[in-house]
Order: sequence, then C-alpha cells, then structure tokens
Amino acid sequence: MRRISGIAVLLVAASSLDLARSSVSHGKSLEYATELTAIGPRVTGSRTYERAAEWSAEQFRAMGVTRVAMEPFTIERGWERVSAQARIAAPLNRPLHVESLAWSPSTPEGGFDADVIALESFSLDGVAARSLRGRIVLLPEGDPPGNPISAGKATNALAARLRAAGALAILAPDGEADNGLTARGLSFGTALSVLPAGQIGRDDARAIRELLAGGPVRVSLELTNRITPAAAIVNNVIADIRGRDRPDEWVVVGAHLDSWDFGTGAQDNATGVAMVLEAARAIAAFEQRPRRSIRFALWGGEEQGQLGSNAYARAHAAEQHRVVAYLNTDAGTGRTIGWTAPGRADVVRAARPLIQGVLDELGAGTFDESLRYGFQSDGAPFILAGIPTLDLNADDTKYEEIHHKAADTIDRVDARNLAAGAAAVAATAHAIAESAGRFAPHLDQRAMERMMNRR
Ligand SMILES: [Zn+2]
Repeated sequence: MRRISGIAVLLVAASSLDLARSSVSHGKSLEYATELTAIGPRVTGSRTYERAAEWSAEQFRAMGVTRVAMEPFTIERGWERVSAQARIAAPLNRPLHVESLAWSPSTPEGGFDADVIALESFSLDGVAARSLRGRIVLLPEGDPPGNPISAGKATNALAARLRAAGALAILAPDGEADNGLTARGLSFGTALSVLPAGQIGRDDARAIRELLAGGPVRVSLELTNRITPAAAIVNNVIADIRGRDRPDEWVVVGAHLDSWDFGTGAQDNATGVAMVLEAARAIAAFEQRPRRSIRFALWGGEEQGQLGSNAYARAHAAEQHRVVAYLNTDAGTGRTIGWTAPGRADVVRAARPLIQGVLDELGAGTFDESLRYGFQSDGAPFILAGIPTLDLNADDTKYEEIHHKAADTIDRVDARNLAAGAAAVAATAHAIAESAGRFAPHLDQRAMERMMNRR
C-alpha cells in the first residue's frame, strides 16, 4: 500500500509540475492583468467594476470551463468619485491636495467656504458644540485607537456628533510623506458618511494647523461624487471545473476583483485575478480533469470589508462542508514566497507532501502559519468557517509604495513574479483537487475559538 500511494503521489506531483511549468513559460497571467487594468479602477458598485466582472466571465467562458455564473449581492449604495477641489481661501490663497473619502456624499453644487476648526483628538470632550457650527472640521492625524472595525465605529460616531453640532464637512489628513494620498473611506462599508468628508495630504493639514495658530483659516471645498439613489447590486464571478471522480467536493480559488481608484488596482488586485484566471486556463487546458471540482471565485467588495466573499459564504453555507480548501491570492507581485495557512499547522502538514517539490522549483516553497494577513483579505470568511485556507505569500517590502495609491499601475508589476505566483496557485489547486486522500479537516466552532484566542 505504501508503495502504491507513493507512486500515486509522484504522478500527482508530475502533473502539477507540468501545469506550473506551462503557466511560467506560456501562461497568460500578464495579458490578463494588462487587459483588466486597461478597463480601469474597479471600485465596488461602480460601472467599471461591472465591466470588469463581465470581462472576467468572458475569459472563463473562452477557456471552456463547466459553468460560469454571476452571483449578486447587495451593498447599501454604489459610489464613484467624480471630482474634488479644496483651497485655503484666507488668510492666504493656496491649493490643497484633496480627494473625497470613499462613500462621502457630495457637497452642495459649487461647494462652500467655511472656517476650519482643528480637533486635537478623536474625542469631542472639552470641545464646545457652538465652536463646530458652520465649520469644516480637521481631524487629527492617524486613526482612532483599536482595530479597523472599532476605529470605524468610533469615526462614524464622531461624524454623527459633528453633524448634530452643525459642522459642514470633515477633512482627514493622510499619513503619507510628501502630501501623498492613500485611498480609503471614513470607515469600512458602503453606507454613505453622514457629512461630506475629504482626505488631504499630511503637509497640507500641518500647514492649516500652523496658520490656525495665528488666527482664523478659511477653506473652500467642493466634493462631487456619483451615488446610487438606493441599494446597488454587485456581482461576484464564479466559474467551475467539474471534477471527474468526486465532483461534489471542491477546491475554491479566489481573488478580489474590486480595487481602489487612485491607480488601476494592478497589484491590488488585478494580478491576483490574473493568477486565478491563469490557474483556470491552465487546468481547463490540461488533458485530464482533476479528481475533485475546482471553483474559481472573483470577489467584489473586498476593500469595503470582504463583502463579496462574506456574501458567498452566507449564500453557500449549506454546502461549505464540501470545500476541501480555499486558496486566496491578494499579495501583489513581490517575489512569491509560498503559502500561509493562518493558524493551521495541520493545513501546512497536509499541503506539503502534495506540492512542496513543485513550489521549490518555483522558488516559492516556504509555508508558515502566520495570522498577520489572513483576516485582511477574502480568506477571512473561510478561515472563520473552519475551512483549510491557504493565502499566497509574497515579499511585501515594497508593497506599501503602491498599496491603494496612484502608483498601483501595471508598469510596477513584476511579470516573472506574477507568472510564478500564477503557477503556484494553479499547481497547488490542482494538487489538492487531485490528491487521493483527504486534505486537512474542517475545524469545529470550539477549535476555531481556541485558534482565534491565539491571535
Ligand atoms: Zn487587496
């Protein structure tokens, strides 16, 4: 028995290796990433997001996969940036580097001029309500304390109090050097903020504070955004390759299709989408269908809090026990390091014998169990459901140069690292789908809680 299973493992490894080699030498990952970024930035709920979803579905259909489906979910509002202008109007005249915070309402047409009040902290303790009336409120640098969810709640509560006190708008300084801006919302989610809210460069915010030390500062502000009048529909794109032997078990391979809109979302996350498409193309072109099914998923709403993957997890809750593993790719095109199985040494132990040799050939053979990034992308709902999850891990030393910034464009993509990442995704998905034995188990609620307590 041992000898036979040894031969079986070798056969699996050989076919996964062929896949990996074909993806590196004549895969289409760079073509996919180039075409997708040419559609434009893909803010969740925007028209370009839906164009990108249609384009992705066409790519899947062209490969001859078994099934392609648009799976809709609902967001509170669709939001697209149109324009933003701000300047210091007095005591001197000076332009400000400004953009709307995502899901900010527009200011009234033509904008307004108002005096600025600068808050020293995110608390309004000691701030007289009358000093806020008719003002533009400049927030402190940084975020309120706590994790992104509690910080978001604190920010929303602050915005509601500012509005109740009669403030007109919020300006939030960014943390970047050289007045740089990183796309973001006032908080997570797709609900409109209660006040028009802009982000301004750190140096501009500091200049306003310096001027305020000498007397009143007047700012002129106009924010224009296109907002749907009611809830909006967003589509996840789902494609299946049906397994030849165990079609009712599947490996899910996913990446988020949405992006922020300062650049064109090249490494966040057109390259992840390109890896998923290339994995689907290479596996669909392979002479033999894998033993188990493979489901390819392109998610919307990741940047607003993994909305698409969460909606999928809810809609498919009754069949999630059939998911053998979830593979996620959302790490850019630094050198591919390997796979992270957040909190799951047993998943690493299950994956290694199936794929170590192929990953080593790609220079991507390092596994870890770090919890650092696992919950910051679409692996989260799968991890929380106890499903074995692998998150592609790439060198992140240069990632912050482009992350959610205007510099996230196709010319910064490393084509060789992209191809290696695509090959790792294709070969790993295939090897798990093809393996004869069972993969790592699903964790029950209690085991999950133990794992989460180690965070
Ligand atoms: Zn991302």
